[in-house]
Amino acid sequence: MAKIVCVLYDDPITGQPETYARDGLPTLERYPDGQTLPTPNAIDFTPGSLLGSVSGELGLRKYLESNGHTLVVTSSKDGADSVLDRELHDAEIIISQPFWPAYMTAERMDKAPKLKMIVTAGIGSDHTDLQGAMDRGITVAEVTYCNSNSVAEHVVMSVLALVRNYIPSHNWVLKGGWNIADCVARSYDVEGMHVGTVAAGRIGLRVLRLLKPFDMHLHYMDRHRLPEAVEKELNLTYHSTLESLAKVCDVVTLNCPLHPETEHMVNAESLKNFKRGAYLINTARGKLCDRDAIAAALESGQLAGYAGDVWFPQPAPEDHPWRSMPNHGMTPHISGTSLSAQARYAAGTREILECYFENRPIRDEYLIVQGGELAGVGAHSYSAGNATKGSEEAERFKK
Ligand code: NAD
Repeated sequence: MAKIVCVLYDDPITGQPETYARDGLPTLERYPDGQTLPTPNAIDFTPGSLLGSVSGELGLRKYLESNGHTLVVTSSKDGADSVLDRELHDAEIIISQPFWPAYMTAERMDKAPKLKMIVTAGIGSDHTDLQGAMDRGITVAEVTYCNSNSVAEHVVMSVLALVRNYIPSHNWVLKGGWNIADCVARSYDVEGMHVGTVAAGRIGLRVLRLLKPFDMHLHYMDRHRLPEAVEKELNLTYHSTLESLAKVCDVVTLNCPLHPETEHMVNAESLKNFKRGAYLINTARGKLCDRDAIAAALESGQLAGYAGDVWFPQPAPEDHPWRSMPNHGMTPHISGTSLSAQARYAAGTREILECYFENRPIRDEYLIVQGGELAGVGAHSYSAGNATKGSEEAERFKK
């Protein structure tokens, strides 16, 4: 029987909710490209309840324990005295969400000789040393598509919030003011602006589709070119480099995975190619950007705004400069963990576990690493290597 260690974010400070703002969730039949939603044999949770926090347990306890397995759920993940580290020695499966990632470095893998599989309950497995997993024959899987549309909604919200100067204007209301000139001195319309996505995968393409009705000009770069019919339908301009895209765009949004090729792709040098006053939205991964170069670009006005929800490391220490830099619209990492998304990735995690324990193949589209190499979506969207360096700094966060 297996031991599964599941690292989840803390419960709300007021405790796990007893009631919710809404009753239930809309029913989705399929994802936009036809991929089916998760298909576990059963679920033991109520869709629309908080599943991603420790007490929510991703709805997995009944299923795992009734099959004789041991489930350890904890939020204690950083530092050598963490519960995660303490439990590694006989763990067979580690599960965590990118919002509160269990950084699975090679050192941690070496402390876990029985480890067979690392599951990302969500999308984006860069918190696992993928090279380390390949070298050790550990499977890495994630719940592809579960929150791609959730994130795209957050991107659109962020574009509008930054360009229209929503957050400072809202703050004037809270302060009791009526300071219209202060609010609008940085407020523009998105209509007619050029927006470009770095990567047009599930999220990037959705962002383009959602922004089309705002009459923006649409651009993208990706290592895989979209079908000609899609380029025509959306009137897309393709760029083979970030430099070429950044030079013409008023708004740039990052939607590629973090891997060695994309790490720090936005840095002091590449920011020089951006138009003065460009807006940058990053809901993909914090480490796609050089932390200090972003803060400096906001200070100098090279960037007019920066928003997103991803940081490095996570949780971000209190003195992380993105908390205090000017003209930002940052949130903690939340875009992919709406109650709607949680129901999908909890079901997807259950599906992956059922496949593993019943010796059935895990869907190809959920695989990142298998059999010592990148597989499935991993082979399409990642490059080999490790992007976890520096993650030990997460230990500095104080609750
Ligand atoms: P996806 O696999 O559908 O798309 C990824 C795209 O990136 C692919 O089209 C791929 O070709 C492209 N790509 C990879 N390397 C590239 C490179 N060097 N240059 C240009 N393009 C490159 O994945 P998705 O569902 O669109 O998610 C993308 C990423 O967004 C995830 O890997 C994750 O890091 C992030 N994400 C964040 C959240 C959140 O809550 N903020 C949630 C989900 C995903």
